[in-house]
Amino acid sequence: MLTSGPIPKDHRSGFVALIGRPNVGKSTLVNQLVGKKLAITSPVAQTTRNRLRAILTTPSAQLVMVDTPGIHKPHHLLGERLVHTARKTICEVDVVLLLLEACCSPGRGDQFILKLLSQQKTPVLVALNKADLVEKTDLLDREAEYRDLFGELGWPLYCCSALNGKGCNDLTVALAAHLPLGPQLYPSHMKSDQPEQILLAELIREQVLLKTREEIPHSVAVKIDRLEEITPDKKSKNSKGYTAILATIFVERKSQKGILIGKGGSMLKAIGKGARLQMQILIDGPVYLELFVKVVSDWRCKPARLAELGYEVN
Ligand code: GDP
Ligand code: MG
Repeated sequence: MLTSGPIPKDHRSGFVALIGRPNVGKSTLVNQLVGKKLAITSPVAQTTRNRLRAILTTPSAQLVMVDTPGIHKPHHLLGERLVHTARKTICEVDVVLLLLEACCSPGRGDQFILKLLSQQKTPVLVALNKADLVEKTDLLDREAEYRDLFGELGWPLYCCSALNGKGCNDLTVALAAHLPLGPQLYPSHMKSDQPEQILLAELIREQVLLKTREEIPHSVAVKIDRLEEITPDKKSKNSKGYTAILATIFVERKSQKGILIGKGGSMLKAIGKGARLQMQILIDGPVYLELFVKVVSDWRCKPARLAELGYEVN
């Protein structure tokens, strides 16, 4: 058991699954709660692919949050895997946080998730996120609409903004109350259980999604080929240490490779620059980043390729 400092007798610890349609703000909420950029976020739906465990340690509880891929109807092999992972996650955790958007009324899209969750025994809390986008009076109406929907199921309702943090504290307290009594599961300083390589690869994928938007859909994957800490040359006064990162971006078609590289390499340069800046924050030091683009047709339908890229093969 790994603990630091005295742990109170009534300390709670356990697992929280974040469930919600793509783009509701699951990754943003994880980052807000943990106070560090762990999960990549973007206005493009279906950003999160790998299961990322973010660890939130408070004086009285430790919440291990699992940021699940957005649940949606499967279209191809990768989609089916994502839904499968989400279903499995629900059964394994102590409490589910169903995240919805305060700016939208309950819709047909919610029914799929509602049905899935009501079939499980795991307790569910509901949070209406993006409350900052809604006028206070409208928010009360919206809350009432959702209470009508979830009241029967006995799911408590909260409002929050993952972006500015409002309501997030209450949410943490409510989630912690659903965890079993128990000691810390991870050391206090640990904020994620993902290897750094995956976090770094995700930062590159985030830039690809941000910079190319609709042009490169979800047929992109990133693999870190080399990650090396270069120590400063003691003989030279101006020499500074840095982290060298070599990575490959996989796409499915030649045309996509063209878009990613851009005119005279301008797009790849912009992606690299954006990713490097984020990596420097994560690593807390200078980064040298070199990117390659490779075409592997239909990688999403090839199980061996998926496994190699780190996607869970269940
Ligand atoms: P996910 O697909 O559920 O993980 O969603 P993301 O966390 O990637 O967020 C999707 C988009 O919604 C991003 O552009 C976020 O900046 C934005 N977003 C998330 N939470 C909030 C919020 O509380 N308020 C506002 N205004 N935007 C938010
Ligand atoms: Mg996400």
